Amino acid sequence: MNTERLYYADAYCADFAGRVLAARDEGGRLAVALDRTAFYPTGGGQPNDTGRLFTASGSADVVDVTSEDGLVWHWLAAGAAPADWPTGAAVTAAVDWPRRFDHMQQHTGQHILSQAFIETCAAETVAFHLGAAYSTIDLSRTDLDAAAVAAAEVAANRVIDRALPVTAEYVTPDELAALPLRRAPKVTEDIRIVQVAGFDWSACGGTHVANSSQVGLVKISAVERRGGELRVTFLCGGRARADYARLHALAQGLVARFTTGQDEILAAVDRRAAEAEALRKELADLERQWVEATAAALWAGAEPRASYRVVARALDAPAERVKHVAQALKARERTVVLLAARGERPQVFCTRSDDLAVDAAAVLRAAVTAGGGRGGGRPDWAQGGVPSAEALDTALQAGTSTL
Ligand SMILES: [Zn+2]
Repeated sequence: MNTERLYYADAYCADFAGRVLAARDEGGRLAVALDRTAFYPTGGGQPNDTGRLFTASGSADVVDVTSEDGLVWHWLAAGAAPADWPTGAAVTAAVDWPRRFDHMQQHTGQHILSQAFIETCAAETVAFHLGAAYSTIDLSRTDLDAAAVAAAEVAANRVIDRALPVTAEYVTPDELAALPLRRAPKVTEDIRIVQVAGFDWSACGGTHVANSSQVGLVKISAVERRGGELRVTFLCGGRARADYARLHALAQGLVARFTTGQDEILAAVDRRAAEAEALRKELADLERQWVEATAAALWAGAEPRASYRVVARALDAPAERVKHVAQALKARERTVVLLAARGERPQVFCTRSDDLAVDAAAVLRAAVTAGGGRGGGRPDWAQGGVPSAEALDTALQAGTSTL
């Protein structure tokens, strides 16, 4: 019992009638094999078709298609009732055509692109994957530069422009020996050769467009070295058009934001980046000056004790900046510093000059504990936090009172 594969003779057959040869239930998933099918099962780098099957008593979506021992199995969506699919039942079927045609465009485009890489730079294709969004081929050479890749793309699109017929036929071993095959076939009998007239001959069981012009366009979107191979990501036909629309919208968005022409966008981005870098430097300079000036003012107004000064204050500044002020004060002589950054969750820093033996960690702990917070550190540097602005005043008073 074999399934007759209609797509071998006619890749454009999307609606057909057949009969149920067998059904099987695997863990609640029902699969039916038909005597003939236009559904392509996953294989040869090309994903399966999807679609819908109908019998007199029911219908179900086909969510996966596999091939085993000559039979093509149509895996039905959950909920399909086995009673609707008895052996011998007449079935009508519809393949999801937009999905299938997309696969045909990508697959024929791959044959053309692979041959173009051989003709322009002697790079063999060692693997092909047709993905849901992108397709890839892996090339045997990794030393191709951008110009070589672009040349292959141009050559492939020229083949599309020439509108060459694409045909498939079974050949005998003798006929096979006379063909300039791109790669040796993986099978030894029933060898099917897909030919892009006069340009490419490949052993392939996939579905293809009838004319190279239907590939529409080949666009390489990425090239990436992977070990000893070069992975080329590409889009054909409808996918390439959709990608063009996406990129056009992106370019229009940039044009609007930079109020410039498309050709000036890169220069505008570079200019904006240079401006941002200059502003970052200027801001860092101003911040350093602010930290120094703030530290000097705080030190001048600090509370003098018998043998050292105490700087205890809360600042309206980001914690990182307050920390820098504390560090600047630590560098001065005989100074104890208890600084806080105001905010929703105030942060507290405690430090002291290297010429003092005051335990900053103990001061900090006394402060944050009184304020209902937490913290700790070393004898010369400690930090912590309190839960609210009100707690901060309590904390600063408590910390100062230990000095
Ligand atoms: Zn193929």
